Amino acid sequence: MQPKEVTIAILDTTKPDVGARKGPSFTYPRWSLETKPYWDGCMRGELLYQRCADCREIVFHARALCPYCLSGNLDWLKSKGRGKIYSFTMQHIPLHRERPESRPRALGIVEVDEGFHMFTEIQVAERAELHVGQPVSVHFDKVAENLTLPKFRAE
Ligand SMILES: [Zn+2]
Repeated sequence: MQPKEVTIAILDTTKPDVGARKGPSFTYPRWSLETKPYWDGCMRGELLYQRCADCREIVFHARALCPYCLSGNLDWLKSKGRGKIYSFTMQHIPLHRERPESRPRALGIVEVDEGFHMFTEIQVAERAELHVGQPVSVHFDKVAENLTLPKFRAE
């Protein structure tokens, strides 16, 4: 039996290209039957959330059943898209080497006025411009042909 040639690759993690994938390799959210109305709303420029018709609790992210009472009787409502920064951090490494213009950016949790929190991107030029409690408003970023993401801007 012939020995097989084995190639061992040693990753040099000091180089920014190591581990990078070619092509459109962003990780995008996937749709499901429960979340499709939410993503369709984003495509129309609407930030949607759910409220349980039985126990009246606000439900976000989109789901099939109320997490408070397990009712499947959830209504879709439209947010005014305003809130305040609950928490944030700055990302200084670009998300993708093909989009270095995307840095730095703030990722954080926004407390939306209607009573839910959402993890999102908060667009800002410099860290010093952001603080917890700062008012923000939603805008929509079409990142792919069939995907629009809700992001926030400081007011
Ligand atoms: Zn409920």
